[in-house]
Amino acid sequence: MGKVLIIGAGGVATVAAHKLAQNSDVFTEIMIASRTKAKCDAIAADLKARYGVEVATAQVDADNVPELTALLKRFQPVLVMNLALPYQDLHIMDACLAAGCHYLDTANYEPLDEAKYQYSWQWAYHDRFKQAGLTAILGCGFDPGCTSIYTAYAAKHHFDEIHELDIVDCNAGDHHKAFATNFNPEINIREITQKGRYYLNGEWVETQPLEIHQPVTYPEIGARESYLMYHEELESLVKNFPTIKRARFWMTFGQEYLTHLRVIQNIGMASIVPIVYEGREIVPIQFLKAVLPHPEELGSNYTGYTSIGCRIKGVKDGRPKTYYIYNNCSHEAAFKETGTQGVSYTTGVPAMTGAYMLLTGKWGGAGVFNVEEFDPDPFLAKVAESGLPWHEIVDGDLEL
Ligand code: NDP
Repeated sequence: MGKVLIIGAGGVATVAAHKLAQNSDVFTEIMIASRTKAKCDAIAADLKARYGVEVATAQVDADNVPELTALLKRFQPVLVMNLALPYQDLHIMDACLAAGCHYLDTANYEPLDEAKYQYSWQWAYHDRFKQAGLTAILGCGFDPGCTSIYTAYAAKHHFDEIHELDIVDCNAGDHHKAFATNFNPEINIREITQKGRYYLNGEWVETQPLEIHQPVTYPEIGARESYLMYHEELESLVKNFPTIKRARFWMTFGQEYLTHLRVIQNIGMASIVPIVYEGREIVPIQFLKAVLPHPEELGSNYTGYTSIGCRIKGVKDGRPKTYYIYNNCSHEAAFKETGTQGVSYTTGVPAMTGAYMLLTGKWGGAGVFNVEEFDPDPFLAKVAESGLPWHEIVDGDLEL
């Protein structure tokens, strides 16, 4: 039913490409374009061998808007899936407007020189997408993505009003490396080392990085120390569900990981400020990225599960109610199916599902939208069938 172009050839793009190839009745033509064409070619060769699907590839610098626009005009995709890095978001949106393509991403725009997470830059494109009759789908990974859609599903089916939302993200997997990040190290470390922030009674409360923590029990995993962080979906969720009084995001970290992170910060390796080294400017965190294990390499020895979900309090028919909706994903099963680990899998599968919603006409509209603004029902049916089934606990103890 349509041509799709994936930009990026990392872990998330690899999983999404597998899932597009598994749905070749809807995704009738696929192209993967990225900075390093050899990586696109390797994914295409794997897809041909596994599913017999032909995938086109191309080299592109997505920060070069004229170059990307020319590629889009040549290939003419219905939808561009931005699975590169958040730095590219605005450039890819510009090229989509210039070439008349719909847009989807999994992470909000960040300027290169400032770790700042907010939707304002992308929301500012709303009128341009609206006038062009194009759809931009923001944040269609797991968190943001499934967590946002879980919240929309809870609001639609389980609550008259949502009052408290806690998004809980546990990675109980073991990659058997002393230190590695599960997705792009630069993005990951920037996210974790920033100040924490949560929403309370209409205001944002700031905390020191990882200052607030407590054990939280995850299904089939057990108790894990969970740390309050800021995460981008909180911004759009409190806007789209205005009855929310408190919204927080929690992520688990092991002691070993936190010790490494502290050392990395103390010695200045997490810095995004360029320094001159042997006459050449380098950014410490980018250099660190080059020496750390690459997220795609973690899969082959990764055991255990991720467990991500939403713990919600509110009222239904005048009575207080609690609701927990979550997915557990096996790193081993993800690797067996796609050759990548669970964190890439839990992001790539929802990205494909969002693309499927758009191409099958279940989601649409002209403008820029966060995923919770669409109907959650068809998405949750498809995402479950595509490898990320979800489970519910009603009126259980939320712990938080
Ligand atoms: P990787 O670093 O593994 O892959 C990024 C890819 O983008 C690489 O192939 C890279 O090329 C390519 N790329 C970078 N810059 C450019 C450019 N200017 N032009 C063209 N291609 C470029 O990242 P991941 O796959 O782990 O993550 C992809 C995205 O998913 C990120 O935005 C991340 O923040 C997001 N994410 C979202 C999650 C969610 O739940 N919502 C969870 C995890 C990730 P090269 O190979 O040459 O380096």
